[in-house]
Amino acid sequence: LAKEKGKNNYQVFNTEMKTISLKRLTMENELRKAILQNELILHYQPQMDIISGNIVGFEALIRWSHPEKGMISPMDFIPFAEESGLIVPIGEWVLQEACRQNKLWQEQGYPHMTVSVNISTRQFLQPNLCAQVADVLKSTGLDSSYLELEITESSTMDVDYAIGVLLELKELGIKISIDDFGTGYSSLSYLKRFPIDKLKIDQSFVRDIMTDPNDAAIVASIIAMTRHMNLKVIAEGVETEEQLGFLHLNNCNEIQGYFFSRPLPAEQLEMMLQHHQQAAPTQQGD
Ligand code: C2E
Ligand code: MG
Ligand code: MG
Ligand code: MG
Repeated sequence: LAKEKGKNNYQVFNTEMKTISLKRLTMENELRKAILQNELILHYQPQMDIISGNIVGFEALIRWSHPEKGMISPMDFIPFAEESGLIVPIGEWVLQEACRQNKLWQEQGYPHMTVSVNISTRQFLQPNLCAQVADVLKSTGLDSSYLELEITESSTMDVDYAIGVLLELKELGIKISIDDFGTGYSSLSYLKRFPIDKLKIDQSFVRDIMTDPNDAAIVASIIAMTRHMNLKVIAEGVETEEQLGFLHLNNCNEIQGYFFSRPLPAEQLEMMLQHHQQAAPTQQGD
């Protein structure tokens, strides 16, 4: 009986595996096609400086506009793209497209903003990442100070390698931020060795700052720490005015979240830029 049961289990397992690998194969083929047929698009979510109220940057967020399935979230295909390696050509396209768009807006006379581009771990570990970034800056003509790369703590597992790559990237004049900060397990002793510019406080901490004293303490502490380390700090996932108030009170530099704006297609962000009053830059200490 045990033997028979074992056999059945094996067969069930086997069938499931086949279904999964078939799904993967289909997904991989569709994603390859998506790249060639321009089904991938970028939305842009503005980032606001809390003191001035100005839009100082925007994050490029990928979407897959599927002919039958409609808009597919990056959460549903980026992990797969990572696994299959397709993230490399996809990431290259994102970088190129985001820089092209930023340069275009600058040429059209919009206030200069920094574009943030997400770099997955697999991309970060590509030996030619730095050359690729340099090529994109050159071909788009975007000044390197207006490009920020968002990496996650999982890209920095090999600390010495990560520091090497980051130093090389910094030499180009671009900025580096740590995305989803606090959700990985990078140690604070390494953090101080990384040549980075900004921390992005993960939205899971921001969500409940008004109701959970622990989250409030964590967020306030991260902000205080960035000040002492001369880093900038942005809070992700800000959805309410109360959260903004808390972050303002605790001296957070910037916010990104639905309260200010959802990620928007390029034309809609343009409209927003046309209507958003950009205040004159405030002096520090005002
Ligand atoms: P992320 O980089 O942490 O991006 C922030 C995510 O939070 C975005 O989800 C954004 O739409 C969402 N968000 C922004 N404000 C709020 C808010 O107030 N409330 C809530 N609940 N959510 C908010 P999205 O666009 O679905 O992207 C999910 C993740 O997919 C990103 O997380 C990033 O890890 C990845 N991703 C997106 N685009 C790219 C890309 O071009 N390359 C790579 N490698 N990963 C990408
Ligand atoms: Mg990000
Ligand atoms: Mg994030
Ligand atoms: Mg995230």
